[in-house]
Amino acid sequence: MSFLIHEVVYFGRCLPFMIMDKIPYFRQYKIQEQKMPTLAEQWACARLVLLSHFTVELPQIWLFHPMAQYFGLSTSVPFPHWYTMAWQIALFFVLEDAWHYWFHRALHTPRLYKMIHKLHHQYSAPFGLAAEYASPLETMILAFGTVGIPIVFCAFTKNLHVITMYTWIVGRLFQAIDAHSGYEFPWSLHHFLPFWAGADHHDVHHEKFLGNYASSFRWWDAVMNTEAGSASGAAKRAKAAAVKEE
Ligand SMILES: [Zn+2]
Ligand SMILES: [Zn+2]
Repeated sequence: MSFLIHEVVYFGRCLPFMIMDKIPYFRQYKIQEQKMPTLAEQWACARLVLLSHFTVELPQIWLFHPMAQYFGLSTSVPFPHWYTMAWQIALFFVLEDAWHYWFHRALHTPRLYKMIHKLHHQYSAPFGLAAEYASPLETMILAFGTVGIPIVFCAFTKNLHVITMYTWIVGRLFQAIDAHSGYEFPWSLHHFLPFWAGADHHDVHHEKFLGNYASSFRWWDAVMNTEAGSASGAAKRAKAAAVKEE
């Protein structure tokens, strides 16, 4: 059931972007306009993603249920209050983002990059399907932020419902696919929530290979001075260099 939800959400969410690729009107919102993914590229990507879903993610999802129940995940009525769901999901977004920032940054050290992370960077102009295009080891390391953190939370608090867990995972999947979509719209969320990362944040990461390591928010890269591409990041680094020279 969990596996099925994941597949439907993943490919379902990618579909609108694949359709947009075929409609010239949407070209104006494409971040790296000159690089359109070809159908062959998308198909090759989908094949590897599917393979990884069945060989890496399916066994993990299988293990997830008994493990979560062991740690006290609630699967029965009453359903949690919307307020409880909201603060728990917000907390997971913040914690996952921190996990992602540090492990993703570590994956960019030369050895780990070559061994593990290079595959994910095959597409310098990402598209939705590329979100989970990664080596099995990377999938396991980064997925811990999405799945492991709530389990640890549940082990300590004994206060987590499976509905909250599903909603969180769907939200996180949407976030990851949108970040890789290659499209930036005037109505994109980060125009209203300036600390939300959005597509343009992660797109630059794929284009430049350096900086912008966080997943959902902009604060870690801002505080740790690892922003890529943006004028503010460049200005900050120039200022830091000037201070060093003095
Ligand atoms: Zn990377
Ligand atoms: Zn990526």
